[in-house]
Amino acid sequence: MEEITVRTHRQTEMIDITAAVQDAVRRTGVRQGVCTVFVPHTTAGITINENADPAVVHDILMEIEKLIPQRDGYAHAEGNSAAHIKSSLFGCSTAVIVEQGRLRLGTWQSIFFCEFDGPRTRSVWIQVTGDRGIVKGEK
Ligand code: ZN
Repeated sequence: MEEITVRTHRQTEMIDITAAVQDAVRRTGVRQGVCTVFVPHTTAGITINENADPAVVHDILMEIEKLIPQRDGYAHAEGNSAAHIKSSLFGCSTAVIVEQGRLRLGTWQSIFFCEFDGPRTRSVWIQVTGDRGIVKGEK
């Protein structure tokens, strides 16, 4: 298993971790398989979306804030219920196909770590399963 550290700087933010995940895939040596990206936190999440236009991330965070307000008469005494709810909405894991040692993402897709109760130092666990050999036909 590979682990990466993500330092967040705001209470709520989405950080593109695609390059760090790709580095982790390369370290495993797996050429063909599946990369699981797992966030071991209850107030953070993971998602895949567009990184080409930063307005997309801005709009996602703006709307999620309207959907799940910071204060709404929550029972959880720690005061971060909104972050827990957002974490469950986004989910704590994603899977990406690995082909020829590379993450097979769509043209506009990036993997985002989603912070909902920052700033904090966070971990992301990465496991790549598959074949290390050169596949027939691959150059
Ligand atoms: Zn809590």
